[in-house]
This record gives sequence, structure tokens and C-alpha cells, in this order.
Amino acid sequence: MIKIPEKIIFANLPTRIEKLERLSQKLGGPNIYIKRDDQTGTEVSGNKIRKLEFSVKEALNQGCDVLITCGGIQSNHCRATAAVASRLGMKSVLVLRGDSETELDGNLFIDKLLGAEIQFITPEQYKNSKAQIMEEIKGKLEKQGFKPYIIPEGASNGIGGFGYYNAMEEIIFQEKEMGVHFDKIVLAVGSGGTHSGLLLASKTLEYTGEIYGINVCDDAQHFKNEIYKILQESMKYIDVNLHISKDEIHIMDGYVGRGYALSRPEELSFVHDFAKLEGIILDPVYTGKAMYGLVEEIKKGSFENCENILFIHTGGAFGLFPQKHLFKL
Ligand SMILES: *Cc1c(COP(=O)(O)O)cnc(C)c1O
Repeated sequence: MIKIPEKIIFANLPTRIEKLERLSQKLGGPNIYIKRDDQTGTEVSGNKIRKLEFSVKEALNQGCDVLITCGGIQSNHCRATAAVASRLGMKSVLVLRGDSETELDGNLFIDKLLGAEIQFITPEQYKNSKAQIMEEIKGKLEKQGFKPYIIPEGASNGIGGFGYYNAMEEIIFQEKEMGVHFDKIVLAVGSGGTHSGLLLASKTLEYTGEIYGINVCDDAQHFKNEIYKILQESMKYIDVNLHISKDEIHIMDGYVGRGYALSRPEELSFVHDFAKLEGIILDPVYTGKAMYGLVEEIKKGSFENCENILFIHTGGAFGLFPQKHLFKL
């Protein structure tokens, strides 16, 4: 039995697995199920809280009192970090890619409501020097007597990955309860930690289904490299040395569309149709693109030999609001 690092509990777990009856029927292919990780909480909703449960435990073990992290202006991860910090009486500093003049909406509004301190940086600064900027903030806070802890983008590092190691254990348990086996698990990939955690657990627990990520930015090669790196980091924590090659990291490229957080009309009308069909809201940045991709791939016959597919709803609902004017309702 592998002993994974300790966590602090914030998420409402286990999250439900529901069958998408009408979508499955309409496509006439495999049965599609959805794991409701969008319901891990309210302030902490989505996939990031599973990762933060491990990152923040590590921060507390080190005696830290400030959480510093970074992300896009509508980052779900930054919002969840701000919520956790406030719940623990800690301070949070968010380094956001974007403009201070941006309208307070969606996650950015919640960040403010939760009392996060926000530093806006340009896309160039974000691309080239976000780690350095967070280190500088850490240095300044240390001079003031604080003990800051830096969480990388998406909490996608060795420790954060255990959130989805845990989720994989949960899925295996739920399969037994439901009497269903998932041939494929499909999810959106944005920084790779979710995919990495699932893959690590699936290998160590000898799960026979396969994990398929759909990238919402960059490309397949970028994520094969990122996920490979996170896997190596996680394995150090549990003293496991599995050989997982980059070929075993499945990324379905082709659904980035106009780029990160930019939507195409067909993606938004898909989110609208899905909400009407199943009564479940997806987000435009991650789950809308990934579910759109999954449906396109099923139509193309890529999942012809599958009986059951599990899609992980990784959350992101607050990200719908800043894009509301783009929907044709
Ligand atoms: C961050 C995020 C993802 C991607 O997860 P990663 O672990 O960063 O790859 C997917 N969906 C939502 C809603 C997210 O906020």
C-alpha cells in the first residue's frame, strides 16, 4: 500500500458520478458519465481544491502564513487559493495576467470579495518571469516578518498532483459501487496537474482504463513534457519509481480553438445546447472545450470500441459570467 502525503480537508468528497443519459443516447456511442468535481464546494468549486488540499497542508506543515500564486485574470485556481487562505486566516497574494482596469466579474470579483491582494502583470511578464515575480513578492513579505509559501500555476506540481491521485482512488471505489468500468477517463488539461495525478494513480493502482486529456492551450507535446515532469516530482514523495513514457500520456490536440480563454461561436453554442440537454453548466475556458472535443471525437469514431467513458467536470462556472455577452441566448 502506497502512503501518499497528508492533506487538509476542504472539498466535499466524494463527488457524484452521473450518467449523461440524453447525450449518450443522442450520439449513439459509448455511455458517457460525468464526475461532478464542479461540486467540490462553492468558493472552492472545481478541480483546484483537490490539489490545494495537499499544497496547503505542506504550507501549514512548514509554518507558512501567506499563500502566493499566479494565473490568468479569471483563474479558478487563484480564486480557490484566495478562499482557502481566508478560511485559514492566512493572507493571499495573487499574481494575475491582465489589466487592473478589467471589470470586476467572475473569479476576479470573488478574489476581491475574499480579500486577496492582487498584482496585475502583462502577458509578457507572465510568460517570462512569473516565478521570479512571485519570488520577489515572497522576499518583500519575509522582510515584513511573514512566512510565504509559493504555489505554482494551477498547483500543478509534485505535491498538488496528489489531489488527483486521491480522485483516482475515489473513481475506482465508485466503479465498484456502481458496477461500471470506465474504458476511458477524459478531462480538460490546462497546466497538467490533474492529468498527472490521475495517471500516476492509474499506473500504481494498475487501473485498466486510460486517461485522455484535451488541451485548452499550447499543444500535445508541451503537455506531454509538463505532465512527465510533474509525474517525476510526485514519485519522489512516495518513493516510487515507475517508468511512464511520454507515449503513455494521451493528449488529444485540436480543440484549443482561438487560444486560451478565447471562445469560438460553435463552442459557446455547444455549452448552451449542453446546458439545455443535460441541465449541467460547463465553462467556456476548460470543460466547454473539452466536452466539445469529446463529442467531436465520438462522432469521428475515435471511441468506437468503448463501452463507458467518464468525463471529469473540473468546474469553472464563475468563468461563464465575464463571457455572458458572447452567448446567443
Ligand atoms: C485549471 C482547470 C483545469 C485544468 O486542470 P490542470 O490541472 O491545470 O490541467 C480544468 N478545468 C478547470 C475548470 C480548471 O479551472
